[in-house]
Amino acid sequence: MTHRKTKLQVKKLEEERDQALLDLERLLEALKVEVDPDSDEGDPDLVEREKVVALVHGLERKLESIEAALRQAQAGTYGICERCEKPINPDRLEILPEATLCVECKSLLERGARVSAVAA
Ligand SMILES: [Zn+2]
Repeated sequence: MTHRKTKLQVKKLEEERDQALLDLERLLEALKVEVDPDSDEGDPDLVEREKVVALVHGLERKLESIEAALRQAQAGTYGICERCEKPINPDRLEILPEATLCVECKSLLERGARVSAVAA
């Protein structure tokens, strides 16, 4: 991968990070709204809240991946799989610039035990 290409990906990553941070802020703001503690479990507000919490967790994972990819870019190892150290398919990076694992390792980890804290 050329240096110029990496720069482009870094820019993309930074944009994604900024967007994710904005989304996160908005979601956390939504969570601040008081929920009636006496409400039933079937309360639509509560269901909505759980959805927002799930979204927050998803975004936090995404941010972690983006930060990891940015660290890789700084170290000059962007586009290299963290696990097997083979180059990650550029097509994959095009779709998922925060990927730090190749497709094989990613699916291996997803199928296997989720013991590892590696986020990708
Ligand atoms: Zn790999």
